Amino acid sequence: MRAFTFKGGIHPREMKELSNQCPITAAFPSSKTVTIPVTMGGAPNTPLVQVGDLVAKGQVIANGDKFMNCPVHSSVSGKVKKIAKCLVTGNSEVPCIIIEADDENRTAFMEPLDPFTCEHDAALARIRDAGIVGMGGASFPAHVKLNPPEDKEIEYVLVNAAECEPYLTCDERTMQESPEKLIDGLAIILHLVGAAGIIALEDNKAFIKPILEEEIAKKGYGDDMTVRLVKTKYPQGSEKFIVSACLGVEIPSAKLPADAGCIISNVGTVCAISDAFRLGMPLIERSLTISGGAVEKPCNLRVPVGTLVSDLMPEFFTLKENQTCKVVSGGPMMGFAMISADFPIAKGTSGVTFLTEKETYLDDEDQCISCGGCVHVCPMRLNPVLMIRELKAANTKKAKRYGLMDCIECGSCAFVCPAHIRLVQRIRLGKSIVRTQMAEERSKAAAAQAAANATGGAK
Ligand code: SF4
Ligand code: SF4
Repeated sequence: MRAFTFKGGIHPREMKELSNQCPITAAFPSSKTVTIPVTMGGAPNTPLVQVGDLVAKGQVIANGDKFMNCPVHSSVSGKVKKIAKCLVTGNSEVPCIIIEADDENRTAFMEPLDPFTCEHDAALARIRDAGIVGMGGASFPAHVKLNPPEDKEIEYVLVNAAECEPYLTCDERTMQESPEKLIDGLAIILHLVGAAGIIALEDNKAFIKPILEEEIAKKGYGDDMTVRLVKTKYPQGSEKFIVSACLGVEIPSAKLPADAGCIISNVGTVCAISDAFRLGMPLIERSLTISGGAVEKPCNLRVPVGTLVSDLMPEFFTLKENQTCKVVSGGPMMGFAMISADFPIAKGTSGVTFLTEKETYLDDEDQCISCGGCVHVCPMRLNPVLMIRELKAANTKKAKRYGLMDCIECGSCAFVCPAHIRLVQRIRLGKSIVRTQMAEERSKAAAAQAAANATGGAK
């Protein structure tokens, strides 16, 4: 079987064997409390509940009236204890609704809806009402993604089942344990956008291909869906590279997959769409992998959204004594290093990795030896060493010209650098400086415009 791929990339140790034999197990926080961020993708929401309110599982607790708003639901039946800023992925503090579960199991799910007979707008409304966002990490609202502008003709829906981040295996387990849900969710999406479907699997998961193909054949979707193997290579799961590996099309700088005629959805997102129609269940729980060398028994869990990672210990996993050197929300390549495990599992949290010193050890930085390794592996075909040189000289304009803002922060360059230069960290910092500069320029321009309007008005 031929596996497709993209140019560049690296082969970090996969470490999937730590958890890929562990079935997804239902878990509940030991404190019986969930900390649900008011916004988890899309435009900022406003809380719709107050401290002391009783809420049902599946009840909308935060929302907004803009097209980009994506509602947030209570993942438990319980009482609102607090609305306060809490630590979330990325180490920022954002407004969260803290709910203590009771034993009453009140639910407020929607009625099931037939996706193949309902109106197109009703189907999109269902996806929005269910609060579905991209569950691979980006958390982009699904109702927006599945409603592309009229001038963008969508030919393919790609299910991103690459799961190229080391350690993470929850998508792999989902496809094995619930192939019928994935195929159903994909059929719903294909019906909605009128396209063909491709499920893109890395070839380290080739054994899942016949499982999915059997399900496709059973449902009679053989003309509409195919399963395609792509090479096991990091960062294969990045949107641009899934498209180039599967379709041989390159998405130009600053363009989206829709510009290349595709929509990309993660495995969890596709399954959540099936649940939203078939069960009327909003996105209130998700599967994730808990792994890393510091975890006693890595595992795959299904938890209510808002569960604090620390609240899963010691009942569902434990840490080796004095071994944790770094806690990462996500995988080690593109995840966020966290200051503690007291953060909630959000809709976009696909895993948490607890890494040992050996797994995170970085040698001291040396001088660049101009080996070109970073250029060779960069999947975006950038020149990291040149960008760094300009950033060091505080020349952000030139760094931008070298493609600074196109960097997807995959870390491949830093991974191969024999001089251990913290390339990706510096690029990340450079990008945030540029963003600040751009915001300042925008506010200056707005102030100048306001002043000009005021002067014009006074004449
Ligand atoms: S420059 Fe950016 S996109 Fe290229 S390898 Fe480095 S982190 Fe990845
Ligand atoms: S990989 Fe490191 S040492 Fe080699 S050119 Fe790039 S920055 Fe320099």
